[in-house]
Amino acid sequence: MLILVVNAGSSSLKYQVRDTAAPEAEQVLTVGLIENIGTDIPDHDAALEIMAAKLEEVLDGRELEAVGHRVVHGGEEFTQPVLLNDAVTAHIEELSSLAPLHNPANVKGIRAAFHKWPHLPQVAVFDTAFHATMPEHAWRYAIPEELYKQYGIRRYGFHGTSHEYVTHVGAELLGIPVDEFNAVVAHLGNGASATAVKGGKSIDTSMGYTPLAGLIMGTRSGDIDPSVLTTILQRDESIDAARLDTILNKESGLLALAGSNDMRKVVEAAQAGDERAQLALDMTAYRVASYIGAYNVAVGGAQAIIFTAGIGENSGDFRKLVLDRLGALGVKYNAEENMVRSPEPRVISTEDSAVKVLVIPTNEEKAIAEATEALATK
Ligand code: ADP
Repeated sequence: MLILVVNAGSSSLKYQVRDTAAPEAEQVLTVGLIENIGTDIPDHDAALEIMAAKLEEVLDGRELEAVGHRVVHGGEEFTQPVLLNDAVTAHIEELSSLAPLHNPANVKGIRAAFHKWPHLPQVAVFDTAFHATMPEHAWRYAIPEELYKQYGIRRYGFHGTSHEYVTHVGAELLGIPVDEFNAVVAHLGNGASATAVKGGKSIDTSMGYTPLAGLIMGTRSGDIDPSVLTTILQRDESIDAARLDTILNKESGLLALAGSNDMRKVVEAAQAGDERAQLALDMTAYRVASYIGAYNVAVGGAQAIIFTAGIGENSGDFRKLVLDRLGALGVKYNAEENMVRSPEPRVISTEDSAVKVLVIPTNEEKAIAEATEALATK
């Protein structure tokens, strides 16, 4: 099936066309990015026209058969991919208060695609959905119940499509049925999260109500004592809630600690003797290792630790910093194998390691295309 995968942001639109019937290596027909929506390009409809013109050249007469959309927030309602219609799209729009930066843009992308291709089946795949299986003791916050009831304040978790995809690939690689597979997944990109996977399902994850919680990220602080925030707001009148939100989301993390949110640069700086960069790496790796330890308990003993996304897949230096802290779990890894870069899923632990360590390239577009095909052909 020829499927267009769309990831619509507020000012940009990423897309990929995949042929799910083609051999693995030939599934991607084209990838693209349209930027400056809202400035150079008036709106998402205009962006879609530009994309459609580009697709016409590449597809050479072949017709798209379905569209799959990445949607950030599915709230408590959407726990599976869903076939889109006007009512479902309106429902996704209603969840905008939970993801004010993302859902409105996702909805614009969906509506623009329906204007352009009204006859095509379209599917939404949610970043939160994989985490719908978390037990309440993991997703509730210890705050007054009205705040949950009124505002939906609870842990939702994100990066679900990626966590689910690498869980399945990891189980297959080890020859374990996925519903018997216990793992801790570390998705380490610009945004980063860890997930506790038991029997192939998410039972806890480090991101929370928003993608700010948990690990130290490129520009996000991750976990922080909430009274730090009230203290800043009370002490510094020049900082209001919106400014604080920007500081924590865009000016913190590796950027604040080491002056760059690019892991390659931070590693290079540390290797050249920059002490700030080394501290940033130590803090970031320590946080990842701590979550892995905690989630190893949550899943009742993991069979595997999975590294994925930009840093998790590519930075042997960063993986080493994490793995060297996991000796108490009986983790042993092959130092040379750890430094190899490869596009293939692989095992980097030694035979006698108590837990397997896997490096698995994520592929959210592939997962979205497969989910889209499954619903579009139903
Ligand atoms: P996003 O969350 O934006 O999708 P990615 O998954 O692309 O992020 O990850 C981006 C991060 O991956 C950056 O910190 C980048 O420095 C890091 N990265 C990419 N390639 C390498 C590499 N070869 N070595 C170390 N870090 C890398």
